[in-house]
Amino acid sequence: MVIDERTFRVVGVHFGLRRTTVCLLDLRGQLLAETRLPHRRRGFEPLVAQAVEGIRELVSAAPGQVLGVGASTGGWVDRESGLVRDHRVLRWRDVPLRDALANGLGLRAEVDSSFRSLAMAERWFGGAQDVDDLVSLFVGNVVGAGFVLGGRVFRGFQAAAGTVDHLSVGATADESCSCGRHDCLHVAASDLAVLARARRAGLIGTRGTLEHLIQAARNGDVRADGLLVARAELVGVAAGALIDMLDPAMVVVSGGVVDAPEYLRSVQRGARAYLRDKRPVNTESVVRLSAFGTDGVAVSAASVILDRIYAAPSEFVPGLLELRYG
Ligand SMILES: [Zn+2]
Repeated sequence: MVIDERTFRVVGVHFGLRRTTVCLLDLRGQLLAETRLPHRRRGFEPLVAQAVEGIRELVSAAPGQVLGVGASTGGWVDRESGLVRDHRVLRWRDVPLRDALANGLGLRAEVDSSFRSLAMAERWFGGAQDVDDLVSLFVGNVVGAGFVLGGRVFRGFQAAAGTVDHLSVGATADESCSCGRHDCLHVAASDLAVLARARRAGLIGTRGTLEHLIQAARNGDVRADGLLVARAELVGVAAGALIDMLDPAMVVVSGGVVDAPEYLRSVQRGARAYLRDKRPVNTESVVRLSAFGTDGVAVSAASVILDRIYAAPSEFVPGLLELRYG
């Protein structure tokens, strides 16, 4: 059976700290439409209600049959139970995201962490196609990693694989981590950490954003540039540790750390410095930028449902046994 790509669609929805992004894609992962829904509240019910309304509007405005919804968010997400077990920044604990979306929309829904969905998306339709051993490292307001090992997404015994918040990167942050230490990746190198540092140094105002800091660096502010370089190198240390541990063919970096792609070089330098004296790795070829740009988390959320559709198409379209593209 040949797929008519104009017919079938999937929805991706990503819940972030400041906005929810919903998008409509075809079965090849091509983005057809996208809506950003800014929010200030972090409560589970209001954010799901907002997302359901946004998805309904997006779907009703476009032709095609929607096969399902893939949802992602940072933190600890368990695909099997459909629960967000813990989201440190949104402060969600054991919330039934999958069922809330499925019930609200009358569509099949699947959830996973945004870090895993990024890894899946890179492999299905990004820059890591045919790569069997892959790490996706996201550093933004939240931090996390997704692993594809031996061609399969690795979730771990409790679906908590990829929690790298507390990976020691050797730098001493001003703030202490929730675990009490000062050298964890999250407190040393997240967007929140670098922005707090920039505010204290007077480089941006109290409402200043990462875009403001990047702009200041591009306008020649050496202190702003220095902060961003130092943060990127710490992310590189984390990448180096993951390379040392898992020996992936590729580490794909995304999130605020590479909102300005020029800082990829600093990430590679940090990884090289970590791996020096351990083993030779061509970090320029292994450590790469995500194919999905700054908003990859939303597009990649769709890969959570596409992964299911590719694995068992007949569950979604009766009579359809295999999806073939080429
Ligand atoms: Zn910690």
